Amino acid sequence: MHPIIKLNSNWDLSQLYYSFEDPTFIHELSQAEDDFYKIKTLLSEDREISSEYLLNCLEYMDTANLLLTKVSSFVNLTLMVNSSHSEALHFNNRISSLQAASQQSLMLLQHKVGSLDNIEKLISDCNELIPYSFLLRESYKTSKQNASVVIEDIILQMQLTGSRAWQRLRDSLDGAAMVSISLKGEEKSLPLSAVRALASDTCQETRHIAYQTELTAYKSYEGPMAACLSAIKGEALTTMQWRGYETVLDRMLDVNKMDEQTLSVMMESIEAHLPAFRNYLKAKSHVLGHKNGLPWYDLLAPVGQNSRRFTYDEAYKYLVDIFTGFDKNMGSFIKNAFENRWIDAFPKEGKVGGALCADLPSLRQNRIFANFSGSYSDVRTLAHELGHAFHSRCLDKVPLVMRDPPTPICETASLFNETIVQEQLLQAVSAEEQLFLLEAGLRESTQTVVDIYSRFLFEKEVFERRKSHNLSEEELCEIMLSAQHTAYGDGLDPEYLHPYMWMCKVHYYIPEYHYYNFPYTFGLLFAKGLYARYKRKPEGFMEEYINLLKSTCSNDMAGIAVQVDIDIHSRAFWDSSLEMIVEDINHFIKLCENI
Ligand SMILES: [Zn+2]
Repeated sequence: MHPIIKLNSNWDLSQLYYSFEDPTFIHELSQAEDDFYKIKTLLSEDREISSEYLLNCLEYMDTANLLLTKVSSFVNLTLMVNSSHSEALHFNNRISSLQAASQQSLMLLQHKVGSLDNIEKLISDCNELIPYSFLLRESYKTSKQNASVVIEDIILQMQLTGSRAWQRLRDSLDGAAMVSISLKGEEKSLPLSAVRALASDTCQETRHIAYQTELTAYKSYEGPMAACLSAIKGEALTTMQWRGYETVLDRMLDVNKMDEQTLSVMMESIEAHLPAFRNYLKAKSHVLGHKNGLPWYDLLAPVGQNSRRFTYDEAYKYLVDIFTGFDKNMGSFIKNAFENRWIDAFPKEGKVGGALCADLPSLRQNRIFANFSGSYSDVRTLAHELGHAFHSRCLDKVPLVMRDPPTPICETASLFNETIVQEQLLQAVSAEEQLFLLEAGLRESTQTVVDIYSRFLFEKEVFERRKSHNLSEEELCEIMLSAQHTAYGDGLDPEYLHPYMWMCKVHYYIPEYHYYNFPYTFGLLFAKGLYARYKRKPEGFMEEYINLLKSTCSNDMAGIAVQVDIDIHSRAFWDSSLEMIVEDINHFIKLCENI
Protein backbone atom coordinates (compact mmCIF):
# COMPACT_ATOMS: atom_id res chain seq x y z
CA MET A 1 0.00 0.00 0.00
CA HIS A 2 2.72 2.43 0.94
CA PRO A 3 5.63 2.79 -1.42
CA ILE A 4 8.83 2.29 0.51
CA ILE A 5 10.35 5.66 1.06
CA LYS A 6 13.25 6.51 3.28
CA LEU A 7 12.10 9.29 5.54
CA ASN A 8 14.48 12.08 6.38
CA SER A 9 14.13 12.62 10.13
CA ASN A 10 15.67 16.12 10.21
CA TRP A 11 13.38 19.00 9.52
CA ASP A 12 13.93 21.32 6.60
CA LEU A 13 14.42 24.98 7.56
CA SER A 14 15.97 25.92 4.22
CA GLN A 15 12.53 26.83 2.91
CA LEU A 16 12.72 29.79 5.30
CA TYR A 17 16.31 30.87 4.56
CA TYR A 18 19.45 29.21 3.23
CA SER A 19 21.53 30.30 6.22
CA PHE A 20 22.12 33.23 8.57
CA GLU A 21 24.19 34.83 5.81
CA ASP A 22 21.26 34.61 3.39
CA PRO A 23 20.77 38.26 2.23
CA THR A 24 16.99 37.73 2.41
CA PHE A 25 17.24 36.88 6.13
CA ILE A 26 19.31 40.00 6.88
CA HIS A 27 16.99 42.15 4.79
CA GLU A 28 13.74 40.79 6.27
CA LEU A 29 14.99 41.12 9.83
CA SER A 30 15.77 44.81 9.28
CA GLN A 31 12.53 45.25 7.38
CA ALA A 32 10.52 43.85 10.34
CA GLU A 33 12.33 46.19 12.75
CA ASP A 34 11.64 49.12 10.49
CA ASP A 35 7.97 48.13 10.10
CA PHE A 36 7.31 47.88 13.84
CA TYR A 37 9.00 51.24 14.40
CA LYS A 38 6.71 52.84 11.81
CA ILE A 39 3.64 51.08 13.24
CA LYS A 40 4.45 52.47 16.68
CA THR A 41 4.72 55.99 15.23
CA LEU A 42 1.46 55.51 13.34
CA LEU A 43 -0.38 54.28 16.43
CA SER A 44 1.02 57.06 18.59
CA GLU A 45 -0.30 59.80 16.30
CA ASP A 46 -2.93 62.01 17.84
CA ARG A 47 -5.52 62.08 15.07
CA GLU A 48 -9.10 61.32 14.29
CA ILE A 49 -9.64 57.60 13.81
CA SER A 50 -11.31 56.51 10.60
CA SER A 51 -12.05 53.03 9.23
CA GLU A 52 -9.24 53.52 6.69
CA TYR A 53 -6.78 54.40 9.41
CA LEU A 54 -7.70 51.30 11.45
CA LEU A 55 -7.48 49.07 8.40
CA ASN A 56 -4.14 50.57 7.45
CA CYS A 57 -2.74 49.87 10.97
CA LEU A 58 -4.09 46.30 11.05
CA GLU A 59 -2.82 45.38 7.60
CA TYR A 60 0.54 46.89 8.36
CA MET A 61 0.68 44.83 11.60
CA ASP A 62 -0.17 41.68 9.63
CA THR A 63 2.66 42.29 7.18
CA ALA A 64 5.15 42.97 9.97
CA ASN A 65 4.02 39.94 11.98
CA LEU A 66 4.44 37.71 8.95
CA LEU A 67 8.07 38.77 8.67
CA LEU A 68 8.51 38.50 12.43
CA THR A 69 7.31 34.87 12.56
CA LYS A 70 9.54 34.02 9.60
CA VAL A 71 12.78 35.42 11.03
CA SER A 72 12.02 34.41 14.62
CA SER A 73 11.15 30.84 13.63
CA PHE A 74 14.43 30.52 11.76
CA VAL A 75 16.39 31.66 14.83
CA ASN A 76 14.34 29.82 17.46
CA LEU A 77 13.99 26.51 15.60
CA THR A 78 17.71 26.48 14.82
CA LEU A 79 18.44 26.94 18.51
CA MET A 80 16.05 24.17 19.51
CA VAL A 81 18.04 21.56 17.62
CA ASN A 82 21.39 23.14 18.42
CA SER A 83 21.27 25.27 21.55
CA SER A 84 24.85 26.55 21.12
CA HIS A 85 24.49 27.63 17.47
CA SER A 86 26.56 30.82 17.63
CA GLU A 87 24.99 32.64 14.66
CA ALA A 88 21.46 31.97 15.91
CA LEU A 89 22.45 33.11 19.41
CA HIS A 90 23.85 36.27 17.89
CA PHE A 91 20.38 37.22 16.56
CA ASN A 92 18.50 36.19 19.68
CA ASN A 93 18.34 39.65 21.25
CA ARG A 94 17.04 41.32 18.12
CA ILE A 95 14.31 38.68 17.88
CA SER A 96 13.24 39.25 21.51
CA SER A 97 13.05 43.01 20.91
CA LEU A 98 10.96 42.42 17.80
CA GLN A 99 8.55 40.21 19.71
CA ALA A 100 8.21 42.90 22.40
CA ALA A 101 7.58 45.50 19.67
CA SER A 102 4.83 43.32 18.21
CA GLN A 103 3.11 42.98 21.60
CA GLN A 104 3.46 46.69 22.20
CA SER A 105 1.85 47.52 18.87
CA LEU A 106 -1.13 45.33 19.72
CA MET A 107 -1.45 47.01 23.11
CA LEU A 108 -1.33 50.48 21.51
CA LEU A 109 -4.03 49.43 19.05
CA GLN A 110 -6.22 48.11 21.87
CA HIS A 111 -5.91 51.38 23.78
CA LYS A 112 -6.72 53.32 20.65
CA VAL A 113 -9.83 51.24 20.01
CA GLY A 114 -10.81 51.52 23.68
CA SER A 115 -10.95 55.30 23.38
CA LEU A 116 -13.53 55.19 20.58
CA ASP A 117 -17.28 55.55 20.93
CA ASN A 118 -18.19 54.59 17.36
CA ILE A 119 -16.46 51.25 16.85
CA GLU A 120 -19.57 49.54 15.43
CA LYS A 121 -20.03 52.28 12.87
CA LEU A 122 -16.37 52.11 11.82
CA ILE A 123 -16.71 48.34 11.27
CA SER A 124 -19.96 48.62 9.33
CA ASP A 125 -18.50 51.40 7.13
CA CYS A 126 -15.70 49.21 5.86
CA ASN A 127 -16.05 45.63 4.58
CA GLU A 128 -12.33 44.95 4.84
CA LEU A 129 -12.57 45.49 8.61
CA ILE A 130 -15.03 42.60 9.04
CA PRO A 131 -12.35 39.87 9.39
CA TYR A 132 -10.89 41.96 12.24
CA SER A 133 -14.21 42.67 13.94
CA PHE A 134 -13.78 40.18 16.80
CA LEU A 135 -10.37 41.64 17.67
CA LEU A 136 -11.75 45.18 17.49
CA ARG A 137 -14.78 44.41 19.66
CA GLU A 138 -12.71 42.49 22.20
CA SER A 139 -10.14 45.31 22.32
CA TYR A 140 -12.94 47.75 22.96
CA LYS A 141 -14.41 45.56 25.69
CA THR A 142 -11.14 44.75 27.51
CA SER A 143 -9.82 48.25 27.39
CA LYS A 144 -12.94 49.28 29.32
CA GLN A 145 -11.89 46.68 31.90
CA ASN A 146 -8.31 47.93 31.99
CA ALA A 147 -7.28 50.75 34.25
CA SER A 148 -6.33 54.01 32.54
CA VAL A 149 -3.26 53.96 30.29
CA VAL A 150 -1.30 55.77 33.00
CA ILE A 151 -2.25 53.27 35.72
CA GLU A 152 -1.64 50.27 33.43
CA ASP A 153 1.80 51.67 32.77
CA ILE A 154 2.44 52.15 36.50
CA ILE A 155 1.30 48.55 37.15
CA LEU A 156 3.75 47.32 34.52
CA GLN A 157 6.63 49.36 35.98
CA MET A 158 5.87 48.43 39.60
CA GLN A 159 5.62 44.75 38.75
CA LEU A 160 9.30 44.78 37.83
CA THR A 161 10.11 45.32 41.50
CA GLY A 162 6.95 43.58 42.70
CA SER A 163 5.45 40.31 41.42
CA ARG A 164 8.08 39.80 38.73
CA ALA A 165 10.87 40.20 41.24
CA TRP A 166 9.15 37.75 43.60
CA GLN A 167 8.75 35.33 40.74
CA ARG A 168 12.47 35.59 39.91
CA LEU A 169 13.32 34.95 43.55
CA ARG A 170 11.04 31.90 43.53
CA ASP A 171 12.72 30.54 40.40
CA SER A 172 16.21 31.03 41.76
CA LEU A 173 15.33 29.41 45.11
CA ASP A 174 13.77 26.46 43.35
CA GLY A 175 16.42 26.18 40.65
CA ALA A 176 19.27 26.25 43.16
CA ALA A 177 17.82 23.50 45.36
CA MET A 178 20.23 20.55 45.42
CA VAL A 179 19.35 17.46 47.43
CA SER A 180 21.26 14.51 48.81
CA ILE A 181 19.49 11.27 48.14
CA SER A 182 20.40 7.69 48.86
CA LEU A 183 19.29 5.36 46.05
CA LYS A 184 20.09 1.65 45.95
CA GLY A 185 22.93 2.08 48.42
CA GLU A 186 24.41 5.03 46.55
CA GLU A 187 24.59 8.58 47.93
CA LYS A 188 23.90 11.19 45.28
CA SER A 189 23.53 14.93 45.07
CA LEU A 190 20.81 15.82 42.56
CA PRO A 191 18.92 18.97 41.54
CA LEU A 192 15.46 18.92 43.09
CA SER A 193 13.93 18.77 39.59
CA ALA A 194 15.72 15.46 38.95
CA VAL A 195 14.40 14.04 42.24
CA ARG A 196 10.88 15.12 41.25
CA ALA A 197 11.23 13.28 37.96
CA LEU A 198 11.72 10.04 39.93
CA ALA A 199 7.97 10.13 40.74
CA SER A 200 7.39 8.10 37.56
CA ASP A 201 10.34 5.72 38.07
CA THR A 202 9.53 2.03 37.59
CA CYS A 203 10.90 1.11 41.06
CA GLN A 204 8.52 1.69 43.99
CA GLU A 205 11.27 2.06 46.56
CA THR A 206 12.93 4.77 44.46
CA ARG A 207 9.62 6.64 44.16
CA HIS A 208 9.05 6.43 47.91
CA ILE A 209 12.54 7.68 48.81
CA ALA A 210 12.32 10.45 46.20
CA TYR A 211 9.00 11.63 47.68
CA GLN A 212 10.38 11.76 51.22
CA THR A 213 13.53 13.52 50.06
CA GLU A 214 11.45 16.01 48.09
CA LEU A 215 9.27 16.92 51.09
CA THR A 216 12.33 17.39 53.34
CA ALA A 217 13.94 19.60 50.71
CA TYR A 218 10.82 21.77 50.36
CA LYS A 219 10.67 22.28 54.12
CA SER A 220 14.14 23.84 54.07
CA TYR A 221 13.02 26.89 52.00
CA GLU A 222 9.27 27.06 52.62
CA GLY A 223 9.46 30.45 54.41
CA PRO A 224 10.81 32.56 51.51
CA MET A 225 8.59 30.66 49.05
CA ALA A 226 5.49 31.50 51.11
CA ALA A 227 6.57 35.16 51.12
CA CYS A 228 6.85 35.06 47.29
CA LEU A 229 3.43 33.47 46.82
CA SER A 230 1.68 35.70 49.33
CA ALA A 231 3.15 38.85 47.71
CA ILE A 232 2.22 37.81 44.15
CA LYS A 233 -1.36 36.94 45.13
CA GLY A 234 -1.63 40.17 47.15
CA GLU A 235 -0.58 42.23 44.13
CA ALA A 236 -3.15 40.43 41.97
CA LEU A 237 -5.91 41.46 44.41
CA THR A 238 -4.79 45.09 44.31
CA THR A 239 -4.53 45.37 40.51
CA MET A 240 -7.84 43.54 40.11
CA GLN A 241 -9.57 46.30 42.10
CA TRP A 242 -7.93 49.01 40.00
CA ARG A 243 -9.23 47.29 36.89
CA GLY A 244 -12.74 47.11 38.26
CA TYR A 245 -13.04 43.33 38.59
CA GLU A 246 -14.75 41.75 41.56
CA THR A 247 -12.54 38.69 41.68
CA VAL A 248 -9.30 37.55 40.08
CA LEU A 249 -11.25 34.61 38.66
CA ASP A 250 -13.56 36.99 36.76
CA ARG A 251 -10.56 38.49 35.01
CA MET A 252 -9.14 35.08 34.13
CA LEU A 253 -12.49 34.01 32.68
CA ASP A 254 -12.36 37.09 30.42
CA VAL A 255 -8.80 36.28 29.37
CA ASN A 256 -9.87 32.72 28.52
CA LYS A 257 -13.06 33.86 26.72
CA MET A 258 -15.11 31.70 29.04
CA ASP A 259 -18.18 32.66 31.04
CA GLU A 260 -18.96 31.89 34.64
CA GLN A 261 -21.83 29.56 33.80
CA THR A 262 -19.56 27.33 31.70
CA LEU A 263 -17.02 27.09 34.49
CA SER A 264 -19.58 26.28 37.15
CA VAL A 265 -21.37 23.62 35.07
CA MET A 266 -18.02 22.02 34.19
CA MET A 267 -17.00 22.01 37.86
CA GLU A 268 -20.35 20.55 38.91
CA SER A 269 -19.93 17.72 36.45
CA ILE A 270 -16.36 17.08 37.63
CA GLU A 271 -17.52 16.93 41.25
CA ALA A 272 -20.16 14.37 40.32
CA HIS A 273 -17.53 12.17 38.66
CA LEU A 274 -14.87 12.31 41.38
CA PRO A 275 -16.00 8.94 42.86
CA ALA A 276 -15.17 7.24 39.54
CA PHE A 277 -11.62 8.66 39.59
CA ARG A 278 -11.30 7.44 43.17
CA ASN A 279 -12.22 3.95 42.02
CA TYR A 280 -9.39 4.10 39.49
CA LEU A 281 -6.95 5.25 42.20
CA LYS A 282 -8.08 2.46 44.53
CA ALA A 283 -7.70 -0.19 41.82
CA LYS A 284 -4.23 1.15 41.04
CA SER A 285 -3.31 1.14 44.73
CA HIS A 286 -4.30 -2.55 45.00
CA VAL A 287 -2.16 -3.47 42.00
CA LEU A 288 0.77 -1.68 43.61
CA GLY A 289 0.22 -3.44 46.95
CA HIS A 290 -1.38 -0.73 49.11
CA LYS A 291 -4.32 -1.12 51.49
CA ASN A 292 -5.24 2.41 52.51
CA GLY A 293 -5.58 4.19 49.17
CA LEU A 294 -2.81 5.28 46.83
CA PRO A 295 0.11 7.11 48.49
CA TRP A 296 1.13 10.31 46.66
CA TYR A 297 4.47 8.79 45.69
CA ASP A 298 2.71 6.19 43.53
CA LEU A 299 0.31 8.63 41.84
CA LEU A 300 2.51 8.84 38.73
CA ALA A 301 3.78 5.25 38.87
CA PRO A 302 3.53 3.23 35.63
CA VAL A 303 1.45 0.02 35.69
CA GLY A 304 1.54 -2.93 33.25
CA GLN A 305 3.94 -3.78 30.45
CA ASN A 306 5.07 -1.67 27.57
CA SER A 307 7.24 -3.68 25.23
CA ARG A 308 6.26 -2.66 21.70
CA ARG A 309 8.69 -0.29 20.02
CA PHE A 310 8.24 1.68 16.81
CA THR A 311 10.87 2.82 14.34
CA TYR A 312 10.27 6.30 12.97
CA ASP A 313 9.17 4.83 9.64
CA GLU A 314 6.76 2.50 11.45
CA ALA A 315 5.31 5.43 13.40
CA TYR A 316 4.80 7.24 10.09
CA LYS A 317 3.02 4.29 8.49
CA TYR A 318 0.99 3.67 11.63
CA LEU A 319 -0.23 7.26 11.94
CA VAL A 320 -0.96 7.65 8.22
CA ASP A 321 -3.05 4.45 8.33
CA ILE A 322 -4.99 5.42 11.45
CA PHE A 323 -5.78 8.92 10.26
CA THR A 324 -6.59 7.90 6.68
CA GLY A 325 -9.13 5.53 8.24
CA PHE A 326 -10.57 8.45 10.17
CA ASP A 327 -10.56 10.94 7.29
CA LYS A 328 -8.77 10.81 3.93
CA ASN A 329 -7.68 14.46 3.95
CA MET A 330 -6.37 14.18 7.49
CA GLY A 331 -4.36 11.11 6.40
CA SER A 332 -2.77 12.92 3.49
CA PHE A 333 -2.08 15.95 5.68
CA ILE A 334 -0.05 13.73 8.01
CA LYS A 335 1.65 11.92 5.12
CA ASN A 336 2.72 15.26 3.69
CA ALA A 337 4.09 16.45 7.05
CA PHE A 338 6.32 13.37 7.36
CA GLU A 339 7.43 13.25 3.73
CA ASN A 340 8.12 16.95 3.33
CA ARG A 341 10.34 17.12 6.38
CA TRP A 342 8.16 19.09 8.76
CA ILE A 343 9.43 16.97 11.65
CA ASP A 344 12.71 16.89 13.54
CA ALA A 345 12.32 13.48 15.06
CA PHE A 346 15.24 12.26 17.14
CA PRO A 347 17.15 13.46 20.20
CA LYS A 348 20.67 14.59 19.38
CA GLU A 349 23.53 16.42 21.02
CA GLY A 350 22.70 20.06 21.72
CA LYS A 351 18.97 19.51 21.08
CA VAL A 352 16.66 20.54 23.92
CA GLY A 353 14.03 18.18 25.39
CA GLY A 354 10.26 18.04 24.89
CA ALA A 355 8.00 18.40 21.88
CA LEU A 356 6.20 21.28 20.19
CA CYS A 357 4.63 22.47 16.99
CA ALA A 358 5.65 25.76 15.34
CA ASP A 359 3.43 27.58 12.86
CA LEU A 360 5.18 28.97 9.76
CA PRO A 361 2.42 31.11 8.22
CA SER A 362 4.72 32.49 5.49
CA LEU A 363 5.01 28.94 4.06
CA ARG A 364 1.58 27.75 5.19
CA GLN A 365 3.44 24.90 6.85
CA ASN A 366 4.46 23.81 10.33
CA ARG A 367 7.56 22.36 11.93
CA ILE A 368 7.28 19.72 14.61
CA PHE A 369 9.94 19.35 17.22
CA ALA A 370 10.11 15.91 18.81
CA ASN A 371 12.42 13.63 20.75
CA PHE A 372 11.23 10.32 19.36
CA SER A 373 12.57 7.25 21.12
CA GLY A 374 10.12 4.65 19.81
CA SER A 375 7.59 4.25 22.65
CA TYR A 376 3.79 4.37 22.45
CA SER A 377 3.81 7.72 24.11
CA ASP A 378 6.21 9.06 21.45
CA VAL A 379 3.77 7.99 18.73
CA ARG A 380 0.97 9.70 20.63
CA THR A 381 3.09 12.82 21.01
CA LEU A 382 3.63 12.96 17.23
CA ALA A 383 -0.13 12.63 16.72
CA HIS A 384 -0.65 15.40 19.31
CA GLU A 385 1.73 17.84 17.60
CA LEU A 386 0.29 16.98 14.17
CA GLY A 387 -3.10 17.97 15.61
CA HIS A 388 -1.68 21.42 16.43
CA ALA A 389 -0.33 21.60 12.87
CA PHE A 390 -3.74 20.74 11.43
CA HIS A 391 -5.33 23.44 13.57
CA SER A 392 -2.77 26.03 12.37
CA ARG A 393 -3.53 25.25 8.74
CA CYS A 394 -7.26 25.68 9.38
CA LEU A 395 -6.40 29.25 10.44
CA ASP A 396 -4.66 30.18 7.19
CA LYS A 397 -7.33 32.72 6.28
CA VAL A 398 -7.38 34.40 9.71
CA PRO A 399 -5.42 37.69 9.81
CA LEU A 400 -2.10 37.09 11.54
CA VAL A 401 -2.64 39.77 14.16
CA MET A 402 -5.61 37.71 15.42
CA ARG A 403 -4.11 34.25 15.16
CA ASP A 404 -3.94 33.53 18.85
CA PRO A 405 -6.68 31.12 19.98
CA PRO A 406 -7.57 31.31 23.69
CA THR A 407 -5.90 28.67 25.90
CA PRO A 408 -8.99 26.46 26.51
CA ILE A 409 -9.32 25.73 22.78
CA CYS A 410 -5.59 25.52 21.95
CA GLU A 411 -5.33 21.84 22.84
CA THR A 412 -8.54 20.69 21.15
CA ALA A 413 -7.09 19.40 17.87
CA SER A 414 -4.03 17.91 19.56
CA LEU A 415 -5.98 16.02 22.25
CA PHE A 416 -8.58 14.97 19.70
CA ASN A 417 -5.78 13.30 17.69
CA GLU A 418 -4.43 11.66 20.83
CA THR A 419 -7.86 10.22 21.57
CA ILE A 420 -8.07 8.72 18.06
CA VAL A 421 -4.63 7.09 18.41
CA GLN A 422 -5.34 5.82 21.93
CA GLU A 423 -8.60 4.17 20.79
CA GLN A 424 -6.84 2.43 17.89
CA LEU A 425 -3.88 1.32 19.95
CA LEU A 426 -6.10 -0.23 22.60
CA GLN A 427 -7.77 -2.46 20.03
CA ALA A 428 -4.49 -3.81 18.69
CA VAL A 429 -2.48 -4.81 21.77
CA SER A 430 -2.27 -7.56 24.43
CA ALA A 431 -4.09 -7.29 27.79
CA GLU A 432 -0.82 -6.41 29.59
CA GLU A 433 -0.20 -3.59 27.16
CA GLN A 434 -3.81 -2.48 27.33
CA LEU A 435 -3.36 -2.13 31.07
CA PHE A 436 -0.27 0.00 30.52
CA LEU A 437 -1.92 2.21 27.89
CA LEU A 438 -5.17 2.67 29.77
CA GLU A 439 -3.35 3.49 32.97
CA ALA A 440 -1.04 5.98 31.23
CA GLY A 441 -4.09 7.76 29.80
CA LEU A 442 -5.93 7.71 33.13
CA ARG A 443 -2.88 9.00 34.99
CA GLU A 444 -2.88 12.05 32.72
CA SER A 445 -6.64 12.56 32.85
CA THR A 446 -6.53 12.34 36.65
CA GLN A 447 -3.89 15.08 36.73
CA THR A 448 -5.91 17.23 34.33
CA VAL A 449 -9.26 16.71 36.03
CA VAL A 450 -8.72 15.83 39.70
CA ASP A 451 -5.39 17.44 40.47
CA ILE A 452 -6.30 20.64 38.64
CA TYR A 453 -9.58 20.66 40.59
CA SER A 454 -7.52 20.57 43.80
CA ARG A 455 -5.33 23.42 42.51
CA PHE A 456 -8.45 25.44 41.71
CA LEU A 457 -9.80 24.97 45.25
CA PHE A 458 -6.38 25.87 46.67
CA GLU A 459 -6.05 29.08 44.70
CA LYS A 460 -9.60 30.18 45.45
CA GLU A 461 -9.03 29.80 49.19
CA VAL A 462 -5.64 31.53 49.00
CA PHE A 463 -7.20 34.59 47.34
CA GLU A 464 -10.00 34.62 49.91
CA ARG A 465 -7.66 34.56 52.90
CA ARG A 466 -5.08 36.87 51.31
CA LYS A 467 -7.65 39.67 51.37
CA SER A 468 -7.11 39.96 55.11
CA HIS A 469 -3.55 38.81 55.77
CA ASN A 470 -0.23 37.51 54.52
CA LEU A 471 -0.21 33.74 54.31
CA SER A 472 2.36 31.74 56.24
CA GLU A 473 3.91 28.49 55.00
CA GLU A 474 1.87 26.52 57.58
CA GLU A 475 -1.34 28.04 56.31
CA LEU A 476 -0.48 27.33 52.67
CA CYS A 477 0.31 23.70 53.51
CA GLU A 478 -2.94 23.40 55.43
CA ILE A 479 -4.99 24.82 52.51
CA MET A 480 -3.21 22.51 50.06
CA LEU A 481 -3.84 19.38 52.15
CA SER A 482 -7.48 20.25 52.53
CA ALA A 483 -7.85 20.85 48.76
CA GLN A 484 -6.20 17.50 48.00
CA HIS A 485 -8.43 15.78 50.50
CA THR A 486 -11.58 17.25 48.95
CA ALA A 487 -10.49 16.39 45.40
CA TYR A 488 -9.00 12.93 45.85
CA GLY A 489 -11.08 11.74 48.84
CA ASP A 490 -10.39 8.15 49.81
CA GLY A 491 -8.61 7.48 46.50
CA LEU A 492 -5.39 8.63 48.13
CA ASP A 493 -3.83 7.48 51.38
CA PRO A 494 -4.39 10.47 53.74
CA GLU A 495 -1.04 9.77 55.43
CA TYR A 496 0.81 10.42 52.20
CA LEU A 497 -0.47 13.60 50.53
CA HIS A 498 1.72 16.44 49.21
CA PRO A 499 1.48 19.61 51.32
CA TYR A 500 4.11 21.41 49.20
CA MET A 501 2.46 21.30 45.79
CA TRP A 502 2.19 25.10 46.05
CA MET A 503 6.01 25.20 45.96
CA CYS A 504 6.30 22.62 43.21
CA LYS A 505 3.98 24.14 40.60
CA VAL A 506 5.47 27.24 38.98
CA HIS A 507 2.09 28.37 37.66
CA TYR A 508 0.95 29.82 40.98
CA TYR A 509 3.74 32.40 40.74
CA ILE A 510 3.09 33.79 37.26
CA PRO A 511 2.09 37.46 37.54
CA GLU A 512 -1.11 38.32 35.65
CA TYR A 513 -1.97 34.69 34.97
CA HIS A 514 -3.77 33.16 37.92
CA TYR A 515 -5.90 30.01 37.97
CA TYR A 516 -3.53 28.87 35.25
CA ASN A 517 -4.77 25.30 35.00
CA PHE A 518 -8.55 25.05 34.61
CA PRO A 519 -8.42 26.01 30.90
CA TYR A 520 -6.50 22.75 30.43
CA THR A 521 -9.30 20.78 32.08
CA PHE A 522 -11.68 22.51 29.70
CA GLY A 523 -9.36 21.57 26.80
CA LEU A 524 -9.23 17.88 27.68
CA LEU A 525 -12.94 17.54 28.34
CA PHE A 526 -13.87 19.54 25.27
CA ALA A 527 -11.73 17.27 23.06
CA LYS A 528 -13.28 14.18 24.67
CA GLY A 529 -16.79 15.57 24.25
CA LEU A 530 -16.02 16.37 20.63
CA TYR A 531 -14.91 12.78 20.10
CA ALA A 532 -18.07 11.49 21.77
CA ARG A 533 -20.03 13.77 19.45
CA TYR A 534 -18.15 12.30 16.43
CA LYS A 535 -18.89 8.75 17.59
CA ARG A 536 -22.58 9.51 17.90
CA LYS A 537 -22.82 11.03 14.43
CA PRO A 538 -19.77 10.56 12.18
CA GLU A 539 -21.51 11.78 8.97
CA GLY A 540 -20.61 15.36 8.21
CA PHE A 541 -18.49 15.62 11.34
CA MET A 542 -15.25 16.54 9.58
CA GLU A 543 -16.74 19.58 7.91
CA GLU A 544 -18.11 20.85 11.22
CA TYR A 545 -14.83 20.10 12.97
CA ILE A 546 -12.87 22.17 10.43
CA ASN A 547 -15.38 25.02 10.75
CA LEU A 548 -14.93 24.87 14.51
CA LEU A 549 -11.13 25.06 14.22
CA LYS A 550 -11.45 27.92 11.73
CA SER A 551 -13.55 29.94 14.18
CA THR A 552 -11.24 29.56 17.18
CA CYS A 553 -9.72 33.05 16.84
CA SER A 554 -12.91 34.93 16.22
CA ASN A 555 -15.35 33.80 18.88
CA ASP A 556 -15.70 33.10 22.58
CA MET A 557 -15.80 29.51 23.86
CA ALA A 558 -19.57 29.17 23.75
CA GLY A 559 -19.69 30.59 20.21
CA ILE A 560 -16.93 28.25 19.02
CA ALA A 561 -18.67 25.17 20.46
CA VAL A 562 -21.96 26.01 18.75
CA GLN A 563 -20.23 25.31 15.40
CA VAL A 564 -20.40 21.61 16.23
CA ASP A 565 -23.75 21.89 17.89
CA ILE A 566 -22.27 21.64 21.37
CA ASP A 567 -23.74 23.65 24.23
CA ILE A 568 -21.02 24.13 26.84
CA HIS A 569 -23.58 25.61 29.24
CA SER A 570 -25.24 22.24 29.46
CA ARG A 571 -24.30 19.75 32.14
CA ALA A 572 -25.04 16.87 29.72
CA PHE A 573 -22.11 17.85 27.47
CA TRP A 574 -19.54 17.75 30.29
CA ASP A 575 -21.06 14.52 31.60
CA SER A 576 -20.64 12.91 28.17
CA SER A 577 -16.93 13.85 28.15
CA LEU A 578 -16.34 12.52 31.63
CA GLU A 579 -18.27 9.35 30.83
CA MET A 580 -15.65 8.58 28.18
CA ILE A 581 -13.01 8.61 30.92
CA VAL A 582 -15.28 6.54 33.18
CA GLU A 583 -15.46 3.89 30.43
CA ASP A 584 -11.66 3.69 30.48
CA ILE A 585 -11.73 3.48 34.28
CA ASN A 586 -14.16 0.56 34.19
CA HIS A 587 -12.09 -1.19 31.56
CA PHE A 588 -8.94 -0.64 33.66
CA ILE A 589 -10.61 -2.00 36.81
CA LYS A 590 -11.71 -5.12 34.92
CA LEU A 591 -8.17 -5.72 33.69
CA CYS A 592 -6.83 -5.22 37.23
CA GLU A 593 -9.18 -7.90 38.55
CA ASN A 594 -7.52 -10.45 36.25
CA ILE A 595 -4.00 -9.76 37.47
ZN1 LIG B 1 -0.20 20.60 22.93
